[in-house]
Amino acid sequence: MHTSLQVIVTLLDLVPLIAAIPSFIGHTRSDNFTRLPPSVSTYQQELGPRLSKNATLYFPNSAGYINDTERWAANTKSNFSVVVVPGTAQDVAATVSFADTYNVPFLAVNKGHGGAAGLATVYNGIQIYIRALDDIEVSEDGNSASMGGGVYQDQLVNYLFDRGKAASSGACACTGVMGPGLGGGFGRFSGYYGLVLDSIIELDVVLANGSIITVSESSHSDLFWGMRGAGHNFGIVTRFSYKIYDIPHPDWFFSTMTFTNDKLEAVFEALNTFGANGTQPKEAVTYTLYTLNPEISATEPVVIFVLQFGASAAEAAPILAPFFALKPLSATNETVPYTGAAHAAGAGDTDATCLPGVSAQLYPVGLQTYNISTNRAIYNLYKTMVNENPGLNTSIVQFEGYAQQGIRAVEPDSTAYAHRGDSLLVYVVPHSLPSCKLHSNT
Ligand SMILES: Cc1cc2nc3c(=O)[nH]c(=O)nc-3n(C[C@H](O)[C@H](O)[C@H](O)COP(=O)(O)OP(=O)(O)OC[C@H]3O[C@@H](n4cnc5c(N)ncnc54)[C@H](O)[C@@H]3O)c2cc1C
Repeated sequence: MHTSLQVIVTLLDLVPLIAAIPSFIGHTRSDNFTRLPPSVSTYQQELGPRLSKNATLYFPNSAGYINDTERWAANTKSNFSVVVVPGTAQDVAATVSFADTYNVPFLAVNKGHGGAAGLATVYNGIQIYIRALDDIEVSEDGNSASMGGGVYQDQLVNYLFDRGKAASSGACACTGVMGPGLGGGFGRFSGYYGLVLDSIIELDVVLANGSIITVSESSHSDLFWGMRGAGHNFGIVTRFSYKIYDIPHPDWFFSTMTFTNDKLEAVFEALNTFGANGTQPKEAVTYTLYTLNPEISATEPVVIFVLQFGASAAEAAPILAPFFALKPLSATNETVPYTGAAHAAGAGDTDATCLPGVSAQLYPVGLQTYNISTNRAIYNLYKTMVNENPGLNTSIVQFEGYAQQGIRAVEPDSTAYAHRGDSLLVYVVPHSLPSCKLHSNT
């Protein structure tokens, strides 16, 4: 879907938001509680020599520092004294060990799309820019790939697609793989392969004491259980082994319909018939959102329904018929290669949705089925908010339905992920312009 929305965020962030608060923050040592943060020269003289020749240190006011500390949500920005770009897993371990010695908070950062407020609580800390560890290698049998902890979604999707392969991955091109993967991770192949975390075979992890261990079903199996659902709290993943598959369908069909809000109840009734309680076909993803489109109305938000379908237009036709019967204001269809699906959904790597620097809060919740009167009440609240606060009129409410077959095929107790029974995600993305002055009730 190509849309003029500034923020259409596919934030199935339910668990990542909860789990993305790193335990390293606040890791303190009582013996040096009052110690001042290390100076630049301490970093250069004490940490620098411990790192490989491929590692880099950036300090405030350098170009590399600014780029590497940018975040999607400006309000989650931390305050770092230094950015370490590791060249190897040992560089990560050495940095963590240094941080432990000097009692400095640190945070692993990949694509910077974590939305948890806790990410902004690092003061005078070390950013470990894990994104630099980004190699991918497919195994000889073609059933798995070994990847650096800094691989990100678009990179993974393109790399595998070029080899006729696919894997569970986030639906937006711009997030890391481990960011969502350590807490959950929803995407277009959830119906086939489950959550991102369900495809993890093995993890190389730097622990808070600076040691590196391999975690799998047969090695530190308790940690393997915990890292798949609450992983951000336990260590920094420098490499992981991941299940991959022959791509089931290389093209994705998209249908986007815009409805006036008098059709809201009928749209959600059709959605409940289509996919409530985990019954959605495994090839399907739906986005339904409230947004203000001034070309249609300056005051009445519209309801947009998007079907994303990993099969042909002909196969999608019976699914779409009940929605067409509701007489949308407009409807567009397109078929794109799987590598273009994130962009078609408005969340390609360089689409506005993905770009850093917005002022946004994310409020996700998981559901079984849409409660239609509640959805109307949410619409009314949203309408009041955007009408009373023009500075918030790029905010959206988004409802996302991911196929559940792959997720429910996994034994609930086999990982720490606690939301396997949820079928639908709803989230509100209040999004403000810098000059916005909010109404006192907002
Ligand atoms: C625009 C947008 C689109 C999104 N789309 C999706 C989607 O389609 N599907 C989905 O499931 N979620 C989605 N999310 C939620 C997103 O996956 C989470 O917010 C995720 O935590 C972001 O990871 P990141 O690497 O981009 O961010 P970062 O801020 O770099 O990292 C987030 C957290 O993960 C930790 N982390 C990252 N890499 C590692 C590592 N290698 N080892 C240990 N810890 C690590 C960080 O320390 C931090 O705590 C989206 C979010 C946004 C803002």
